[in-house]
Amino acid sequence: MFASKVFRPAQQLSSHVRRYANGAPSSGGGNSTLLYGGLGAVGLGGAGYYAFSGTKASNPHPAEHGATNESSAHGQPASKNEEQNIPAKTGGDVSPLKCFKGGDQGFISLVLDKVETVSSTTKRFRFKLDAEDAVSGLPVASALITKYKPEGAEKPVIRPYTPISDEDAKGYLDFVIKKYPNGPMSEHLHEMKPGEKLDFKGPIPKYPWTANKHDHIALIAGGTGITPMWQVARAIFKNPEDKTKVTLIFGNQKEEDILLRKEWEDLEKRYPQRFRAFYVLEHPPENWQSGKGYITKDLLKTVLPGPKDGNVKVFVCGPPGMYKAIAGAKKSPSEQGDLTGQLAELGYDKEQVYKF
Ligand SMILES: Cc1cc2nc3c(=O)[nH]c(=O)nc-3n(C[C@H](O)[C@H](O)[C@H](O)COP(=O)(O)OP(=O)(O)OC[C@H]3O[C@@H](n4cnc5c(N)ncnc54)[C@H](O)[C@@H]3O)c2cc1C
Repeated sequence: MFASKVFRPAQQLSSHVRRYANGAPSSGGGNSTLLYGGLGAVGLGGAGYYAFSGTKASNPHPAEHGATNESSAHGQPASKNEEQNIPAKTGGDVSPLKCFKGGDQGFISLVLDKVETVSSTTKRFRFKLDAEDAVSGLPVASALITKYKPEGAEKPVIRPYTPISDEDAKGYLDFVIKKYPNGPMSEHLHEMKPGEKLDFKGPIPKYPWTANKHDHIALIAGGTGITPMWQVARAIFKNPEDKTKVTLIFGNQKEEDILLRKEWEDLEKRYPQRFRAFYVLEHPPENWQSGKGYITKDLLKTVLPGPKDGNVKVFVCGPPGMYKAIAGAKKSPSEQGDLTGQLAELGYDKEQVYKF
């Protein structure tokens, strides 16, 4: 059952909020409205990390993004360092039908097939794999690095991205990518036209998922930090053997920024006993019934499985300010750093949290 044991009762927070975990949502919007009604208020008092999908102007951690070509929207200082994380082999299997093999394979040029506008700042990109019957070869969860040399630049720009397409999809790879003002790679991608090529290399393994590795996982994402969360959730729900429960908390600036919303709502409809999503907006529209402001400790305490509720794992992915407030900064792309912030205050230990 979805959770009476594993999910935390919402009444702990507010008497206006009913025990959401006991019932299935009646529609795609889920049964979270009452909960959100209560949470909207508490959400406003939260930590003041900058907007999940914010712009340069709102970033109080400029050094973490830096003026170099090595910054990252996902709280990690250097995509170049990500390159050092590519293993010699992809899970021991170097099947020729896998496009990305790791090791000394180097960069592969992939042709952009289609571009779709998702919001005013985000596009969905489909690249063709090097063979029509090839799969990406990416394990869940993992990313790829991209490389592009702007005209006249001394060095290429290198940035990691997390594909959102199914690992079994043949012949293509999908990404959702947000454009940042003066962001060399995201601007380049947003200007690309079908038929043009981009260099990719990988995979960069992140958290290796296997079915039922944990009883319940919490996904705390900000902006495009949702992409690795989607990889994990998709892998779980496409595998009938995997019974893991999943709670998503997804923070954004505006409603239009909620990436893959239809996909999340579909999961909520299909697996009401195992999947719940909570959206928090910094700038909500007038009639917004869900979370408002930032992701707060009260919200985490209310909707997440507690640290003592069995085999629980919490995943965090978003901009640097969000890591800092919720779980503490990563030390480097391959080093998790200490667990601090709201999750530490709530009693989770370092081993229970993974920062993408
Ligand atoms: C493992 C990993 C996977 C990633 N997957 C994705 C993905 O699937 N989709 C995606 O869109 N991005 C993803 N990113 C982020 C991506 O790698 C780039 O950092 C991002 O596209 C910005 O690159 P850029 O060259 O355009 O801009 P940058 O030069 O990196 O940044 C341009 C300017 O924008 C500011 N800026 C950048 N990011 C933010 C932010 N989040 N909030 C506020 N200001 C910001 C910087 O401070 C800088 O001044 C991922 C990052 C990592 C580490």
